[in-house]
Amino acid sequence: MLITEMDKSQCMELLRASTHGRLGCSRDNQPYVVPITYAADGNNLYSFSLTGQKVAWMRDNPKVCVQTDQFQAGREWRSVIAYGRFEELPDRIGWKVQRERAWALLSKQAEWWEPGSVKPAGEVPAPHLFFRIVIDEVTGRHAFTDDQN
Ligand SMILES: Cc1cc2nc3c(=O)[nH]c(=O)nc-3n(C[C@H](O)[C@H](O)[C@H](O)COP(=O)(O)OP(=O)(O)OC[C@H]3O[C@@H](n4cnc5c(N)ncnc54)[C@H](O)[C@@H]3O)c2cc1C
Repeated sequence: MLITEMDKSQCMELLRASTHGRLGCSRDNQPYVVPITYAADGNNLYSFSLTGQKVAWMRDNPKVCVQTDQFQAGREWRSVIAYGRFEELPDRIGWKVQRERAWALLSKQAEWWEPGSVKPAGEVPAPHLFFRIVIDEVTGRHAFTDDQN
């Protein structure tokens, strides 16, 4: 198996092609990773959520990362990590354009709101929010076998 580094445009292409990733955040030296649905646009990954542990942690420490991957035939894979900063898109003057952008992009995916809007049975309903990860840096790796050259 060979592994090559992906350049920035290849990384952004995979981020745009994917709709799911694993969001990594941390607080008090404790990492926390959860799957999320997102929509990539420019230098941003937009998502939707209820308040809860990940939002509380990202409010405390906005430095996060999102990882996504793609597996293909013949053991080929691509994986990208985007490092960036959590930014809330509040329902306030000054954020209307970004909130509408998040809504427009996410609503291209069927049932986009569902995984981010349900808590386990019995929990008190929590307020929802749109947020984005502003990407600072991306890294990517592409693995393939010799015969795929
Ligand atoms: C394919 C997919 C897409 C998803 N898309 C979104 C999305 O776009 N937006 C969104 O907000 N959520 C999405 N989710 C759900 C997400 O993974 C979290 O479960 C959810 O957001 C709750 O996270 P929280 O930090 O608010 O947890 P809280 O409700 O605050 O609960 C925290 C507690 O629950 C545990 N916990 C929370 N989530 C998980 C989990 N997924 N697996 C195991 N333990 C967990 C934590 O370890 C912690 O103990 C998606 C899940 C999947 C599988």
